[in-house]
Amino acid sequence: MTGTPAPFTPEPFTAADYEARMRRAAEAAADAGLDGVLVAPGPDMVWLTGYAPPADTERLTLLVLAPGRDPALVVPTLEAPDAAGAAGAPALTLHDWTDGKDPYAATAALVGASGRFGISDNTWALHLLGLRRTLPHTDYVPLTEALPMLRAVKDAAELERLAAAGAAADATYEEIRTVRFAGRRETDVAADLADLLRRFGHSQVDFTVVGSGPNGANPHHEAGERVIERGDMVVLDFGGLLHGYGSDTSRTVHVGEPDAEEREVHDIVRRAQEEACRAVRPGIACQDVDRVARAVITDAGYGEYFIHRTGHGIGVTTHEPPYMIEGEEQPLVPGMCFSVEPGIYLPGRFGVRIEDIVTVTEGGGRRLNTTSRELVIVD
Ligand code: ZN
Ligand code: ZN
Ligand code: ZN
Repeated sequence: MTGTPAPFTPEPFTAADYEARMRRAAEAAADAGLDGVLVAPGPDMVWLTGYAPPADTERLTLLVLAPGRDPALVVPTLEAPDAAGAAGAPALTLHDWTDGKDPYAATAALVGASGRFGISDNTWALHLLGLRRTLPHTDYVPLTEALPMLRAVKDAAELERLAAAGAAADATYEEIRTVRFAGRRETDVAADLADLLRRFGHSQVDFTVVGSGPNGANPHHEAGERVIERGDMVVLDFGGLLHGYGSDTSRTVHVGEPDAEEREVHDIVRRAQEEACRAVRPGIACQDVDRVARAVITDAGYGEYFIHRTGHGIGVTTHEPPYMIEGEEQPLVPGMCFSVEPGIYLPGRFGVRIEDIVTVTEGGGRRLNTTSRELVIVD
């Protein structure tokens, strides 16, 4: 077996790590002119507290962060023991509420009757409307609009997890190159991808794109019943979570010998991806990474077939700020981590995408995916 990553067991994040993140979030809120941050169950809460309550519960769980005040967690009484066991709990004051009581009244004292708060994008409308009813003069803005860079700059321990996730995705690609493609359905190869991601340490598989032939021209195609044939280009794009951090990589392979046009289109995407990765360095704007990739593809005459942004941030979620997109003037900062994934999509024919996760260092970009980007021929 090639490229098997060594088992990776990170040091767990400590209460001090979570306390520092919560303090940073409260300070960032103050800098943005907000009175604080309200965080519902989901990736923000996991990142800030280490607490992962059931995201599908109708009972209100809400983290309240405000500058100069202790972090507070409003939690249903029956969930309080679990919350108290979270890694970040020592830095939190728990405010529990029992069934039959009004959870918004319990929250009101922590939030205040006026002011402006960032609130997690994924907060249930039920809860936001409950807060509005109880605190009609308090205002709310989506957290990713108010503090888009809150989770964007990763610390060393986070980068270690992202690198491990990348290595496991690379090992998956090295193995999938050796399986049979011709005569099997896309869903069969997708199942192989999922098995490999788990075998190499992923606790969760989020997507396994196998876009063969014309299906590869649809960037949102996941995997279907189409039987892969000799002569097909096949876009592979897969990832999930390993120790809580994401992987996301794409390679495009060809079943049997490619023709001249397939080679050419693949080479254009490869060069666009290479040049965009090389452009990564502190201080350039996110949109510059997109422009570099897009210029290569446009100059080659395929600009209208590159139909998405060049990249997205990655961390405890697969898609998060910063986005490598025209109009995003945010400068790159060491510790940021994002995808560089240009593509060309020829409707009804085939697609090509090549994607690596890249982190910004003082000296430039460092890729967390390092498998060959040449056009690989599979059986
Ligand atoms: Zn072909
Ligand atoms: Zn991807
Ligand atoms: Zn991606």
